[in-house]
Amino acid sequence: MNVDGKFRRRVAVIGAGPAGLVAARHFAAPDSPFECKIYEQGSDLGGTWIFTRNVQFDEIGRPVHSCMYENLRTNLPKEVMRYPDFPFPDYEKSNITSEQVLMYLRDYADHFRLREHIEFNKCVKDVRPIGDNDDEWQLTIFDWLTRQTSTDYFDAVIVCNGQFNKQKMPVFKGFDNFQGSKIHSRQYRERSPYAGKRVLVIGGSFSGIDIAMELSNVAKYVYLSHHVKGINGKFPANLKMTSDVDYFFKTGAYFTNGENDEFDDVIVCTGYHHDYPFLHESCEISTDGYGVEPLYKHLINIEHPSMCLPAINIAVAPLQCVDVQIRFFYQLLAGSFQLPEKSEMYNWLRVDQKRRREELGFSARFAHSLGPLQKEYYDDLADTAGVQRIAPVISKLHARVAQLIREDISTFKNRNFKVVDEENFVELVN
Ligand code: FAD
Repeated sequence: MNVDGKFRRRVAVIGAGPAGLVAARHFAAPDSPFECKIYEQGSDLGGTWIFTRNVQFDEIGRPVHSCMYENLRTNLPKEVMRYPDFPFPDYEKSNITSEQVLMYLRDYADHFRLREHIEFNKCVKDVRPIGDNDDEWQLTIFDWLTRQTSTDYFDAVIVCNGQFNKQKMPVFKGFDNFQGSKIHSRQYRERSPYAGKRVLVIGGSFSGIDIAMELSNVAKYVYLSHHVKGINGKFPANLKMTSDVDYFFKTGAYFTNGENDEFDDVIVCTGYHHDYPFLHESCEISTDGYGVEPLYKHLINIEHPSMCLPAINIAVAPLQCVDVQIRFFYQLLAGSFQLPEKSEMYNWLRVDQKRRREELGFSARFAHSLGPLQKEYYDDLADTAGVQRIAPVISKLHARVAQLIREDISTFKNRNFKVVDEENFVELVN
């Protein structure tokens, strides 16, 4: 497109959740040399943070994206969660509600005038590279309001469709025979249907623990079945930790430690798989649900470097991480630096995988987990791209929260923090 006599390269962003908004904030900024279009299948921005009581489809038959539930308070303090260039309002508590996060995302979008670049109700159905030089992409887009399909063409693609949409559902012996209600946490919305009930929650990660604790306020009793080592906390008397499910029977379950009990409801909190149903095989991106390959620095599609997939990491400060990833990609497209040869990028991938397996003991499940590596990762991206680093206080505060969670997962949200400067924070106990 000719603007001011110059050709502006076109960048497509898929999704207007927190990650897509960062992409828009940089690529659609008034001084950006790019033209940026964001496709959002839903009718509003905010992604995961939009609470809805619908569990499968909305009023017009569109699949529900969000799995947000009532009473959720963030597991990261707002001082870590924030975008680097936009602070949260001065809420008293550090761990805030999902409504407050959504309001923040809307304020961010308004502040940077992002809505005008978002095409709402437009679902990207197919993405494929065309041409020989990795410089053109064809997107097929379905409009939920007109039910029409169209195509558009771009020079680069940023995939921000979220990593908490395709539920992971293990097979449990006898589960079909169990007569009570069964859902995945993806469908969990509120605690009131569980009042007075006997509930089994399966999965010892954040959502399992959070939902089990929440239900213990109203349920008769709650079992939390998991195999996670080192969950510490002061849990309510009616919340019992137990081992993995051995098998289900009509009215309850046996556990591998020999315990058994009766249950009215089961909530399976076993997480999510990465999923990119709209990427045509010619994009050459594959995933086993845990790892996405082949990505250079957990971001750039090695086979087609004009495509990136930010926001797939875990154990990070998500909005800070995606901000530096986007600024890296922006500088790459702007020509400020060049990627290494393809063989070198594959070599980086092998070294990274070996290091996380051998040095850090991460299994394949944690293919994109950063944790103790996050500061090094942020700095590497920023320095390579020649952009501002993420403030060191973010990784320090993130590490402190991880430590508090290890010490007592039942109370870690009671701490409040104040960031003093780029390096330091203070900790306040409620
Ligand atoms: P999402 O928020 O999932 O947004 C993706 C967007 O892409 C959606 O709007 C979706 O409609 C759109 N989309 C998908 N496919 C298409 C398509 N084909 N075409 C067009 N649009 C499409 N993070 C924290 O930092 N702190 C927390 O406390 C925290 N708690 C969480 C609690 C829960 C229950 C969950 C599920 C997640 C939590 N997270 C938390 C992680 C949270 O998901 C991320 O912070 C953040 O929402 C990820 O943003 P995203 O933009 O990558 O994905």
